[in-house]
Amino acid sequence: MGPAAVLALADLREERRRAELRQRLHERLDQWLDRVEERVKEPKPTLEQLTQAVWELRQELMGGLTEEILHQRYGAEVAQQTASCPRCGRLVAARAPVSRTLDTLLGSVQVSRPYFYCTACQHGVSPLDDALGLAEGRKQFDVQKAAAKLAAEVPYDTAQELFAELTGVPLSTERLHALTNAVANGVGVLDVAPTQEEIMAKIAAVAAGRRWRPILVLAIDGADVPTRPETAKGRRRGRKRQRAKRARWTGQWREAKGFRFYLVDDDRIVHLLSWHQIQDDEALFAALQAVKEAGLIPEELVRLCVLADGARWIWNRVKVLFPTAEEILDYYHWAERVHKLAEVQYGDHPEKALEWVEATMARLFAGEVDGGIWGLQRLRPATAEAAAEIEQLIGYLQNNRERINYRSQRKAGYPLGSGGIESANKFICHVRLKRSGAWWYVANGNHMLALRCAKYNRTFDRVFERYRQQMLEKSRQNNP
Ligand SMILES: [Zn+2]
Repeated sequence: MGPAAVLALADLREERRRAELRQRLHERLDQWLDRVEERVKEPKPTLEQLTQAVWELRQELMGGLTEEILHQRYGAEVAQQTASCPRCGRLVAARAPVSRTLDTLLGSVQVSRPYFYCTACQHGVSPLDDALGLAEGRKQFDVQKAAAKLAAEVPYDTAQELFAELTGVPLSTERLHALTNAVANGVGVLDVAPTQEEIMAKIAAVAAGRRWRPILVLAIDGADVPTRPETAKGRRRGRKRQRAKRARWTGQWREAKGFRFYLVDDDRIVHLLSWHQIQDDEALFAALQAVKEAGLIPEELVRLCVLADGARWIWNRVKVLFPTAEEILDYYHWAERVHKLAEVQYGDHPEKALEWVEATMARLFAGEVDGGIWGLQRLRPATAEAAAEIEQLIGYLQNNRERINYRSQRKAGYPLGSGGIESANKFICHVRLKRSGAWWYVANGNHMLALRCAKYNRTFDRVFERYRQQMLEKSRQNNP
């Protein structure tokens, strides 16, 4: 046989395989149509009756079609008779095929694949699982990804209900819990950060056509998150089946500390990177340092400013990491303090309180810190509590004097506040974690925060990919 004839024969085989596949797909479709007809007995159903039947049976069809295509593509692997043992290299004969059910977003797919067991090594493999990139267990990665995405947005109960309704794939809340924690396990700031290229592209877009380098804001902020102690995990011995009627632990509000980098483009904010965790100052600054060392913030291309509250530890650390950054005391933080003082001082006279707040704020907003301090010193405290508040506020303003250069800072285009309650940090923490009755173990709360940051930074797909690769690697190790 000449080469042309061999080619023609290969073409012919390919042609035949395709024809066979088509034939089988049509058969599946016919079977499926029978099922639809069984459901819809009315000769003239309403559109809803029709769509409902098709909707409920859609996974039988789609899963079935997927199954046929898979079997056609992997015909050789499914029929594989021998394989060499990955441990000793011996040739091993296939055992009876083992069937697996894979739950995908398209429905269940059955795969019957050969299993090879080396008696010398007492080790078995299914090479097809690896080739297909299968997750261990029934629920495949597409299901896991969609579920983790949803669970990062809404409470577990709602996620479970919506997920089953919208995808037709049931998943328990326990499974959703476990999945969220697995996907976010070990995720750090650099895992949720956009790449250097992505950040540079955003900076370039804002800088285009401008004389001045764009302003890049680093806002350091916290938000309270309800947590529960680790001790809430254990149950009393000997009473395993009995649930405690009353919680034997008390919840605690803890601060999720974090930061956000964003660009200021006139009145618009261009988000770059958020990272929030229930963590101490050390961990917060270690994350900031990692961002800096990864070269994600091109300080020479922007005018960097740092917005934070008056906490001294923050500013000391900021100075070390970003010595040339413009430091700005977040307007919303000290505005809160001014309001609090007014409440204590003028509790019985709300109109007086308002008048005083407005005058003080106007003065400080104009950058007249000394004038503001002088006004406070002149104030006759109404109570001992007011006296303490006044003293505190004076100290606060004195310590942060150079960070309230609002007149020149405003002129240079720097923002004076991070947006108070609407800030991304609070959004990330509160929307999902602050639910009535929900108290988070710190580790789980941090997992959820990591996924929420990833979504906010638009890096969720990358975080999931990291998880998928880890899971595949794990299966390979269990089953090398
Ligand atoms: Zn072997």
